[in-house]
Amino acid sequence: NPFARARYLLAAHTARQLPADGGFEVAFAGRSNAGKSSALNALCQQNALARVSKTPGRTQQLVYFELPQAAGRYLVDLPGYGYAKVPQDLQAHWQAFIEDYFRRRQALRGLVVVMDVRHPLKDYDRQMLDYAQQRGLPAHVLLTKADKLGRGAAGNTLQAVRATLSREFPGAVSVQLFSAETRQGVETLAEILSGWLAL
Ligand code: GDP
Repeated sequence: NPFARARYLLAAHTARQLPADGGFEVAFAGRSNAGKSSALNALCQQNALARVSKTPGRTQQLVYFELPQAAGRYLVDLPGYGYAKVPQDLQAHWQAFIEDYFRRRQALRGLVVVMDVRHPLKDYDRQMLDYAQQRGLPAHVLLTKADKLGRGAAGNTLQAVRATLSREFPGAVSVQLFSAETRQGVETLAEILSGWLAL
């Protein structure tokens, strides 16, 4: 697993603080509490890697993790969305930063959108998929916390989400079940990201 030795690199809250735009990176997005940190930790086989993204003051930053064996390859943890608590002008600043990031960032090779399998495809999830589609970037949906549903129910949700996505985002979006708890789907995710990052 090329992600096992991922480590924290930096946190950026303006475009100027981003690493040089010459590598390969994959962005992780998701509603707060969807399970994004847990998914990153499971992928990277580390218990507290993405906790750094949640420390106060970092919740409004892009957090970069680097892969020591592969130069210029990054995992980027985007701030969790869906918190009404964020003041509106800050929200607007963020919206602009993220839009700009999606529009201009050459290194960006794909987007992972993490959704709680029990609450998939909320409005802002679609917004993120839209940003990726506008750039012609591939996106991959993780339906996480799959362990919280029975196999039948999880499978039904997967089918339903897959059908909706292929209607709304034809061709560009893949989807899988995932669980940080049981590690279901970790290898599938690692394979997709390895492809995007040319590892
Ligand atoms: P984030 O805000 O999207 O980074 O979400 P977290 O990763 O912090 O997860 C939010 C809550 O969901 C925490 O209490 C996690 O323990 C729990 N959680 C995350 N992933 C899973 C999972 O795959 N299975 C179960 N059962 N709980 C999970």
